[in-house]
Formats: sequence, C-alpha cells, structure tokens
Amino acid sequence: MFHYQAPSQLLKDKVILVTGAGDGIGKTAAITYAKHGATVILLGRTTKKLDAVYDLIEKNKYPQAAIVPLNLDGASEHDYLALSNTIKSEFGQLDGILHNASLLGQRTTLTNYDPALFEQVMRINVTSQLLLNQALLPLMEKAEDASIIFTSSGVGRTARANWGAYAVSKFATEAMMQLFASELAEISPNIRANAINPGATRTNMRAEAFPKEDPNTLPTPEDIMPLYLYLMGKDSLTINGQSLDAQ
Ligand code: NDP
Repeated sequence: MFHYQAPSQLLKDKVILVTGAGDGIGKTAAITYAKHGATVILLGRTTKKLDAVYDLIEKNKYPQAAIVPLNLDGASEHDYLALSNTIKSEFGQLDGILHNASLLGQRTTLTNYDPALFEQVMRINVTSQLLLNQALLPLMEKAEDASIIFTSSGVGRTARANWGAYAVSKFATEAMMQLFASELAEISPNIRANAINPGATRTNMRAEAFPKEDPNTLPTPEDIMPLYLYLMGKDSLTINGQSLDAQ
C-alpha cells in the first residue's frame, strides 16, 4: 500500500470535483477529501446516491458539498460549459479534479465486442475527461496550485484478453494524462496531472468483473486513500505526468 500520512486539513479551502462520486472509490474519495477540509463537487449519474454522499458529508460537519447530476454518456459541450459557469459563480475557484467515473463494458474478445458499447465506454471513460478538462482548465489556471488525477488500471498498462474497450480506454487515459501533464507544464505550470491505478478494490465494478471472487479478501476504497490524498494535496507539487499504484 502507498504510505502517506496526510495533515488533517491538507485540503482546507480547496474546491475539488470528483466524478463518479456516488459509489465505490469515488464516493470514498469525495468523503475523504471533505474530511481533509475540501469543498467537494459530487458529479455522477444517480442523484439518489449523490444525495446520500452529500448527507454523509453534512452529518460529519465537513465543508458543505455540492451535487452535479450529470450522465457523462451523452453530456454535451453545453452541459460542461454550464458546469464550469456554475462552479465559477458558486465557488469562484477550482483546485482539483478526480476523474474517477468509468464503465466496465463487456468482458469479451474484441472480435465479439459490440461496437455501440465500445463507443459508449470510450465516451464515458475517455472523451468526457477531455471535455471536462477543456471546460474547467480556465478556472484551474487561476488556482495557486491545482491537481488533476486520472484513474488508470492494470489493464491500462498491459492489456489482457477479454478486457475490451475498458483496457483501450485506460491506455487512452494514460496517454491523455501524459499529454495534459507535458502541455500544462508549458502553459499552466500551476496545474499538475497524474494517474492512479487503484489496484483490485472492493467495489461493485470489481464484483462485476470478478463475480466468483470473495470481496472480503480485497482492500476497501478507504485502504487506498493515502495516494488519493497525496496527489491532491500540496505534498505532491513536484509530481507531474506520473502513473502511480495505490497499492
Ligand atoms: P464503481 O462502478 O463502483 O463506481 C463507478 C462510478 O462511476 C459510479 O458512481 C457510477 O455511477 C459512475 N459512473 C459510471 N458511468 C457514469 C456516467 N455515464 N456518468 C456519470 N457517472 C458514471 O467503480 P469503482 O469505484 O470500482 O471504480 C472507480 C474507478 O477506479 C474507475 O475508473 C475504475 O475503472 C477504476 N479501477 C477500479 C478498480 C477496482 O478494483 N475497483 C481497479 C482498477 C481501476 P452509478 O453509481 O450511478 O452507476
């Protein structure tokens, strides 16, 4: 496991957007960031789940969160601009994005892969990250320091049979992270971009991918939070363009 002991108010006064914040790793990351002082913007497609995370943050008296119900499949440029305008008017700043939402897609060979599903996985797992960054970078440029975290996977580094569009999308995510990291270093050196490979973690997606596995043998999202905190906070200011393992 990645070792890092975050100061209790590491993210004080920071505004951080988390995608896929209603469940799994994104939910835990959002709560963990709020616990460390951040105002978190919870983006996801199931409002009921986002409401539950919002309530939990409120119950714990962490900084009040915000909810953005948005289906990243089919969201338009207009939706992303509206999001950017809302963040600007409500908070006036954006210091971090955790690109976490993903679709697993089919577990089958590429030969048999449904082309429509392939495109859907690429839209949610890849294109939406580009559109979010394009809409939100102007706001992040004004931050003293800002962090963009992408979410990779073991199959985003070495593809394995039957991981289909998901593996392709995670390779693309690694490339996108590297491109943003090197390009922003030139034009907005206050913004860094890195990726996290969470490793096998106890969530619905993992259970869908490995239905026969006993979830109790896996680390929980809480266990892998040290790297999520490290890369979001100021102790990682000099880290840019890296893809790191949470476990
Ligand atoms: P979950 O399936 O538990 O959570 C994924 C989240 O993404 C959900 O909140 C889901 O919303 C949201 N989401 C999915 N599609 C959309 C969409 N179209 N629009 C908006 N939100 C959407 O997955 P994990 O927590 O396991 O995964 C988190 C990240 O970690 C992913 O990027 C995954 O690829 C990566 N990862 C996970 C591993 C693991 O072992 N768990 C291993 C390696 C990588 P809803 O709840 O409404 O469906």
